[in-house]
Amino acid sequence: MLNRRSIARLLILLSTIWICGPVHALPHRVPDQVLTGTLTGADHETYREVAFEVPAGTKRLTVDFAYTGREDKTTIDLGLRDPDRFRGWSGGNKSQFTVSASDSTPSYLSGPLPAGTWSLVLGVPNIRQAATAAYTAKIWLDRADVPFGGFSDGPIKTGARWYRGDLHVHTGHSDGSCLSREQKKIPCPVFRSLQTAVEAKLDFVAITDHNATSQFQALRELQPYFDDLLLIPGREVTTFKGHANLFGVVDPVEFQIGTSHAPTLSDTLSKAHGLGGLVAINHPSLPSGEICMGCGWTAQTPWADIDAIEVINGGTMRSAGGQAEVLSGIGFWQKQLDAGYPITAIGGSDNHDPDRSVDEAGAIGQPVTAVFAQGLDQANILAAIRTGQVLIDLDPARQRTLDFRAERGGQVVPMGQNLSLSKNGSVRFSANLTNGEGTRLEVIDSTGTVTVLTPLTKPIEERWFTLKMDHQQRRWIRLNLRAADGRLLMISNPIYINFKSPRFQP
Ligand SMILES: [Zn+2]
Ligand SMILES: [Zn+2]
Repeated sequence: MLNRRSIARLLILLSTIWICGPVHALPHRVPDQVLTGTLTGADHETYREVAFEVPAGTKRLTVDFAYTGREDKTTIDLGLRDPDRFRGWSGGNKSQFTVSASDSTPSYLSGPLPAGTWSLVLGVPNIRQAATAAYTAKIWLDRADVPFGGFSDGPIKTGARWYRGDLHVHTGHSDGSCLSREQKKIPCPVFRSLQTAVEAKLDFVAITDHNATSQFQALRELQPYFDDLLLIPGREVTTFKGHANLFGVVDPVEFQIGTSHAPTLSDTLSKAHGLGGLVAINHPSLPSGEICMGCGWTAQTPWADIDAIEVINGGTMRSAGGQAEVLSGIGFWQKQLDAGYPITAIGGSDNHDPDRSVDEAGAIGQPVTAVFAQGLDQANILAAIRTGQVLIDLDPARQRTLDFRAERGGQVVPMGQNLSLSKNGSVRFSANLTNGEGTRLEVIDSTGTVTVLTPLTKPIEERWFTLKMDHQQRRWIRLNLRAADGRLLMISNPIYINFKSPRFQP
């Protein structure tokens, strides 16, 4: 039998060992404030409120708390008050937490951060009479211009390789639905989509609810559990003249284009980019009007401010009976390439129901967007999309990779990059494919020609081709992979020739 004293000891022990590992990525910079102090036996079973100042314009507060004396069973619990209200209590279960308007570590309430005097509340369930304990609270205060660093505590995986994901998924935070345990159609909770993404062997997923930002709280809570899947904050900026996904931003960004909130699309795009976001136009070739209100892209567009175009949309494919090229955004995208804008092509399932059968168009991971990134974290995945080393995989079960390069005079450029020529001559291109047996590559040249290369027969195989180039001609070259029956399996991004774009400045 446990007596009261041993129960108390056990509780103190549990309180001590329940401190989890890091649950939040600490900012990579010196803390803005460091609060230190000492507790003694006189503080046993008392609360100490340690005041600190939060300046106006602060949008996120992150705390990392440590103390000495655990070997003497000293226990310090943690909570937070803002000038107006109690913000939460994590007791002894977390040594780090973040609080912001959009998302907060579980135990703490999200909401605006009022300027003024805040307190870190230290509860002392135990400190021995003769003991002393030194505490240190490091505090970071993010101001409005600090980009969001991600929900994950550091990279999910490290190393340069292909990472595979779905960039367009809806949940119950907009019009995503699924069946409840009693088989009723309900707004689908976020974790169901994430679970399906894991089953589809994805490395990353962006949750892109229509104009909503309430999903970020769920992503904050779920990322530590889904520690093999990078959760990217997204939203589908849904306007009367088209839809565009915004990735990597948790701050409010206006979608009511043409109103005082956002007079022009440029206003919304510059806000998004100022916050480190990436913008992709979705399903641009869908019809607009009463068939599908606001679905096609008809907005006046500053093309230099568009980072990506969703050329394959799973939902569109599903409506077209599984045919990828009917109503695809390929033609729309190539028109912008022809106009000199090196915009990255991506894909997205546009899934609205995680129960959809895994091999069906529009299921989570149908299609996959594969990116060659330096690591699996938000900054690297978004950087890789900007860089353009990106494939759209319409047959993701085979997990194919395609390495596409151009070479001239010892200079090698990968897919997504530009080769500027100082004189006329030949450029040699190479395509290295894994799991490509029984398929064939098509070379799409902006001059209008399509060349089919010799069919692939082995699990790892390379094809070469050489094209004559005029040093004064802007041109792009890309690849399609097709099955023997002509079905489109994969789309590469281009290699650019003689493009002038800020993206290619050294
Ligand atoms: Zn849409
Ligand atoms: Zn959508």
